[in-house]
Amino acid sequence: MSSAGGRPHLAIPGPSVMPDAVLSAMHRAAPNIYAGELIEMMPQLTADLTAVARTAGQVAIYIANGHGAWEAALANTLMPGDAVLVPATGRFGHGWGEVATSLGAQVDLLDFGRQVPIDPQRLEEALRADKDHRIKAVLATHVDTSTSILNNMAGIRAAMDAAGHPALLMADCIASLACDRFEMDAWGVDVMVAASQKGLMTPPGLGFVFFNERAAQARAGLARVSRYWDWAPRACPEMFYQYFGGTAPTHHLYGLRAALDMIAAEGLDAIWARHVRLAGAVWAACNVWGQDGPLRLNVADPAHRSCAVTALALDPPDGTRLRDWLASHMGVTLGIGLGMETPEDPHSDRAFRIGHMGHINAHALMGVLGAIEAGLTALEIPHGHGALEKASSVLAA
Ligand SMILES: *Cc1c(COP(=O)(O)O)cnc(C)c1O
Repeated sequence: MSSAGGRPHLAIPGPSVMPDAVLSAMHRAAPNIYAGELIEMMPQLTADLTAVARTAGQVAIYIANGHGAWEAALANTLMPGDAVLVPATGRFGHGWGEVATSLGAQVDLLDFGRQVPIDPQRLEEALRADKDHRIKAVLATHVDTSTSILNNMAGIRAAMDAAGHPALLMADCIASLACDRFEMDAWGVDVMVAASQKGLMTPPGLGFVFFNERAAQARAGLARVSRYWDWAPRACPEMFYQYFGGTAPTHHLYGLRAALDMIAAEGLDAIWARHVRLAGAVWAACNVWGQDGPLRLNVADPAHRSCAVTALALDPPDGTRLRDWLASHMGVTLGIGLGMETPEDPHSDRAFRIGHMGHINAHALMGVLGAIEAGLTALEIPHGHGALEKASSVLAA
């Protein structure tokens, strides 16, 4: 019998749960795009965005998803034929590299697989081998949402500096921004891409590219930049429409304003700490389930796990069975296994993910964990007992 009636909960790693404050801020009549409130709110909005990114640099906003932000970052820094180094730790690392390839870049791929983070030593060696500095940028995913691997961006910057290599460091923080600690300036990141629908709690549709002075200089040195993707007028517009290369994403801006207010009210440090604690509860429960059954966390070392998303595996096809059961019986949607295909499991049916990014608190998370426990029981998937008690004790600590 289904118990899925009531408010559904989306526990996928983006789009994430939207706060009521964001939804109600968007529920309004069409605003004027030529004068008034919308125009006046922009300087504070961009200041608050750069504060979340921890940068004194600039931000360009695009009516786009994360893929658009990827392309925008590359369109402002590369010409066809330029080389980039892509250290990949999952599907999204490969994805950004594929966008670079499609723009005519030469992509040097360093594949770290799907279970361990980028090894700064190997990165340093690859950069040292690039004696004539063909590589213009390193494209690193801070959190690869497919594997839930957290990469050490400061360590990557240190490896680039140790190699004495001038490439730009570009970070994909689409999953991690406002979930896992990220310090753009302190960690030496030159370009960072993000999107509205994950830690920023706003519907999909806004892409962000943050860039520092070094990156602005790289942009200024290019022979040409696509007029639409050009970040310069978007970051420093003379007219309102230039922020967006055309009509503003009116309602998204009101939603984002509300989300940024919530982030400011809670405080980034408190938000990061909340995600650490909630992720700790997820991992504690998963460890107990796994003691007496097939459930496995994808990333063995907690220090290499994101606090925004957790990738897990059962035996195939139980990942898919569990997701289906939770959706139909519990009103909870878990994330699919993404990029986890193997020859034995060609549709990633063993893999699934729990999204715990953005607008999530302890009771919502305990609901997800309780629903998973019910699913493991109902589907007769062997699992250890006492997982919810363990998760509760993490939250109570
Ligand atoms: C979600 C995500 C993307 C892709 O974003 P879209 O909005 O789906 O285009 C890219 N990189 C990471 C790390 C992500 O989490």
